[in-house]
Amino acid sequence: MTANPKPEIELSAGCACGAVSLTVRGRIRSMFICSCEDCQRATGTGHSTVALARRADVTIAGPTASFARPAHSGATLTRWFCPACGTPLYAQSSRAPDLCMLPVGLFGADAGWFAPNQLIFARSHHEWDSLPEGLPQHPTYRDPESPR
Ligand SMILES: [Zn+2]
Ligand SMILES: [Zn+2]
Repeated sequence: MTANPKPEIELSAGCACGAVSLTVRGRIRSMFICSCEDCQRATGTGHSTVALARRADVTIAGPTASFARPAHSGATLTRWFCPACGTPLYAQSSRAPDLCMLPVGLFGADAGWFAPNQLIFARSHHEWDSLPEGLPQHPTYRDPESPR
């Protein structure tokens, strides 16, 4: 495994309809896959692919809508998306408001730097959802202090 665990990126991405653009400029803090049922519902598949960035390193242009719900940790998890086309843009935990969770698929062809280092919420992971070989797995959060 030679992938950079905390790559420095400078990328812009847009939602499907083009109304919203998101730019991230800075160092990625963490990369992981989450198989919690909320992520399964939000993505329509077996897991979310998340890059954690500083909120201050992320710029959003255009209208956004959000939906907040209690996370398993007791924090409030808010997901932002394009109100017109529904493309997921980012998510934030009330417990770590200085960080934001970026859905890596937003970056399309520019997401080659993504190298997840763990699966969280493995307890609700499905066999049919293939994962990278040897990925460390945690039944829920990695530890109680994790920012979700
Ligand atoms: Zn859109
Ligand atoms: Zn999740």
